[in-house]
Amino acid sequence: MSREKPCRTCTDFKTWAKQQKETYEKEVQKGQDQTSVSDARQNCPLDKDELGSKTWAFLHTMAAYYPSQPSNKQMDDMKSFFHTFSKFYPCHICAEDLQKQLKHSPPETSSQEELSQWLCRLHNVVNRKLMKPEFDCKLVNQRWKDGWLDGSCD
Ligand SMILES: Cc1cc2nc3c(=O)[nH]c(=O)nc-3n(C[C@H](O)[C@H](O)[C@H](O)COP(=O)(O)OP(=O)(O)OC[C@H]3O[C@@H](n4cnc5c(N)ncnc54)[C@H](O)[C@@H]3O)c2cc1C
Repeated sequence: MSREKPCRTCTDFKTWAKQQKETYEKEVQKGQDQTSVSDARQNCPLDKDELGSKTWAFLHTMAAYYPSQPSNKQMDDMKSFFHTFSKFYPCHICAEDLQKQLKHSPPETSSQEELSQWLCRLHNVVNRKLMKPEFDCKLVNQRWKDGWLDGSCD
C-alpha cells in the first residue's frame, strides 16, 4: 500500500528524522557508516525551520532595502509580492496562516520604515504562535540593515 510522501517543508527536522528512521536504518544496514549519513545532512532539501529562518532573512532584508519614498507602482508591487508569496510558500500550514494574517493586517508599503515594522509585527505573530520570544521591533533596522550599534557587525 502506498503512503503519501511526507511534506518536508511542513515538518521540523526532528519529526522528519523520525519519519525517515526506516530509510536511515536500511541505509546503515547497507553498510554506510553513521558519519557519512549525518554528513549527508549538508546540502539537503530544507525542513520547515531551515526554510523559515532563511525565508525570514530574505523578507526582512528585502524590507530593509525597500525605498524610503516608494512610487505608487512599487507600493502596489510589494503588496502583490506578499499576496503571491503567501500562495506559494512551500509549507502549506504556514501559508494558510499567512493568508489569514494578510487579510487581517495587509502589507504596509508606504516606506521602508513602515514595511520593516509591519513585517516585524507579522513575524512576532508567528513567534507568539510558536512560543518563541518576541523581537523588539525598535531594533529591526539594526538586525537587518545597519548592524548593531556596538559595532559587532562592522
Ligand atoms: C511566513 C512564514 C510563516 C511561518 N509560519 C509557521 C507556522 O505557521 N508554523 C511553524 O511551525 N513555523 C512557521 N514558520 C517558520 C518559523 O517562523 C521559524 O522560521 C522556524 O521555527 C525557525 O525559527 P528560528 O528560531 O530559526 O528563528 P526565525 O523565527 O526563523 O527567525 C530568524 C531570525 O530573525 C530574527 N527575528 C526574530 N523575530 C523577528 C521579528 N519579529 N522581526 C525581525 N526579526 C526577527 C532573529 O534574529 C532570528 O534569529 C514560518 C516562516 C515564515 C517565513
